[in-house]
Amino acid sequence: MTESAHGFETLAIHAGQEPDPSTGAVVPPIYQVSTYKQDGVGGLRGGYEYSRSANPTRTALEECLAALEGGVRGLAFASGLAAEDTLLRTVCRPGSHIVIPDDAYGGTYRLFAKVLAGWGVDFTPAPLGDLDAVRAALRPETRVLWCETPTNPLLGIADIAGLAALAHENGALLAVDNTFASPYLQQPLALGADVVIHSTTKYVGGHSDVIGGALVARHSGLADELAFHQNAMGSVAGPFDSWLTLRGIRTLGIRMDRHSDNAERIVAALTSHPKVTEVLYPGLPEHPGHEIAAKQMRRFGGMVSFRVAGGEQAAVDVCNRAKLFILGESLGGVESLIEHPGRMTHASAAGSPLEVPADLVRLSVGIETADDLLADLLHALG
Ligand SMILES: *Cc1c(COP(=O)(O)O)cnc(C)c1O
Repeated sequence: MTESAHGFETLAIHAGQEPDPSTGAVVPPIYQVSTYKQDGVGGLRGGYEYSRSANPTRTALEECLAALEGGVRGLAFASGLAAEDTLLRTVCRPGSHIVIPDDAYGGTYRLFAKVLAGWGVDFTPAPLGDLDAVRAALRPETRVLWCETPTNPLLGIADIAGLAALAHENGALLAVDNTFASPYLQQPLALGADVVIHSTTKYVGGHSDVIGGALVARHSGLADELAFHQNAMGSVAGPFDSWLTLRGIRTLGIRMDRHSDNAERIVAALTSHPKVTEVLYPGLPEHPGHEIAAKQMRRFGGMVSFRVAGGEQAAVDVCNRAKLFILGESLGGVESLIEHPGRMTHASAAGSPLEVPADLVRLSVGIETADDLLADLLHALG
């Protein structure tokens, strides 16, 4: 298949997923196996020798991810954080420096602050929406400029092309965590990023039934180094997890459209609601990142945050009263979730520069019937 000639949904269903050559099975089987028979010493049949190095089900997922992000190679990991760790320990050495978003995903921040810092890698948080502030944070030893857009839970937007230019002028790599947008809504490699990271646990898998991560590189040099470290460090995705993730990917396009449709309905209702003081959604024209988001994203996705009149208790009450919106952490599944970032996902940021407003509620808008979601949310608002 000449993949570049096909549209996104076609790639999601076919890239890396040729019918199985030995049986004709239209879906890549779960190759639940650790080792492979060799035809004579060193004579590999299908290029496989040991499943940490490569496994056919994982290969199917990796080829599909590479096609969807427009990169030369995809690599699948046991979790999003395993993918991040492998990337950072591939490109950083003791003495390296990283610029990170000042509202980075909490687990990513913890990896920088508690793991890599102890390994001699320094980092500077910067507001990525402000290119001058990012320029000021870069140093000669900066190896990576780390970007998330949209951010969690404040839905901030960063200019990927602008950040790529800044990173490259400085001899650094631009790494974009594309978890919130998914490759259907945003393709950072085409905007100049060097590598994309995913927690495939979220929209890519999409069904809240598997933990996984991915890296997709734009150039073969970095891709080869990452692949070497994936095998050398060993935090690979297992065959069943790879299969579940690939099963989710086949519907990524239609899911993201429906997530976006439902989020738009909900944003419209929240914007005019007397108990809501502010709605954070990059699709709103008054959002400070709206213009850039409209340029670099196909649509604005399923994550919506809003602030509730009456402060922390009022926000907590809304979360507790919702029924169809399940009270829970994580995001990106078909089912709608609601949470209070200040006391849940971002509780560990209390007192730090990453602290979030106490009256904030975050929604991961699912793909249920929009009228049902609206009714539940209006009831929860009281
Ligand atoms: C969840 C998440 C991660 C971490 O991924 P895991 O699969 O939980 O390890 C990284 N970045 C973002 C933006 C996330 O939402």
